[in-house]
Amino acid sequence: MNEATPLSTVRADIASAASRAARAPDAIDLIAVSKTRSAQEIRPLLEEGHRSFGENRVGEAAEKWPQLRDDYPGVVLHMIGQLQSNKAEEAAQLFDVLHTVDRASLIKALGKVVASGGRCPPCFLQVNIGEEAQKGGCAIDDIGALLERARTAGLDMIGLMCIPPQEVEPAPYFALLGKLAAEHGLDQLSMGMSADYDTAVLLGATQVRIGTALFGPRS
Ligand SMILES: *Cc1c(COP(=O)(O)O)cnc(C)c1O
Repeated sequence: MNEATPLSTVRADIASAASRAARAPDAIDLIAVSKTRSAQEIRPLLEEGHRSFGENRVGEAAEKWPQLRDDYPGVVLHMIGQLQSNKAEEAAQLFDVLHTVDRASLIKALGKVVASGGRCPPCFLQVNIGEEAQKGGCAIDDIGALLERARTAGLDMIGLMCIPPQEVEPAPYFALLGKLAAEHGLDQLSMGMSADYDTAVLLGATQVRIGTALFGPRS
């Protein structure tokens, strides 16, 4: 028997939640959130065979990942942090999935990349599910219009993403995101972090974004 690692423990938890929800465990993509972690801290996960990672800053990802990608073929890199429109083109080249498309100006910038024949990865629309001031994500009422705008601009919109309010039970927010995705014909749900990923999986998450449970607390 191999010793349990944080990765194997999280995978087992996901599988257990999936089985309680009568879902296939491989329908859930575990994104290891490696923001603030050095390449040295990331390599053990790559050595264990993990390939799906999330970063929240374009500059940090551009520094760390080209080398790691060369060393470990098959990496899928997810952008999970707020994205400035002036970094849209660089992000579109660097990342394989963008989780934080949330406003018209960013859609316009990504649309320009598409129009110029550049690569634009599949995108999630981020929703401000708790309607909190100061938080990224679009208003619930704007989902339909933004999806239409994004599709008109040639973006490949694959699902909805949310970060629920802190310190409250997340389940109602996860359930709401699932309902909104279904209403808009989307079947992918990026939701669930270290503290609540089992709940997210029970409520239909297809991507969970987990940092602390894999790497320990961030300083
Ligand atoms: C940092 C971050 C995570 C991971 O958070 P943990 O609590 O460390 O698992 C997930 N999603 C987003 C958008 C983040 O910024």
